[in-house]
Amino acid sequence: MNKATTFFDMSSGGKEKLPWTLIIIEADKPKAVEVFELKWRRNPHNVTCECCGSDYSISEYESLDAAKKQYAAYHHARKIITAKEI
Ligand SMILES: [Zn+2]
Repeated sequence: MNKATTFFDMSSGGKEKLPWTLIIIEADKPKAVEVFELKWRRNPHNVTCECCGSDYSISEYESLDAAKKQYAAYHHARKIITAKEI
């Protein structure tokens, strides 16, 4: 089964960086970071504001379902990129 990586927007500097609060990419963390950077031309490890911290909180899960379950409350504000779309 494919792993999945979540990128949760921390609103560093006072606003969200992309149209979704949560982005889930169906790949392990190193690959998902690469896909994120290519797709949005943005480094998810970037720190917009030192006091707020990183732009994104990044976590890896065992599967896409596990990642979706963890952030079920954000189903209305998420973008999912499946392994097929990478
Ligand atoms: Zn700040």
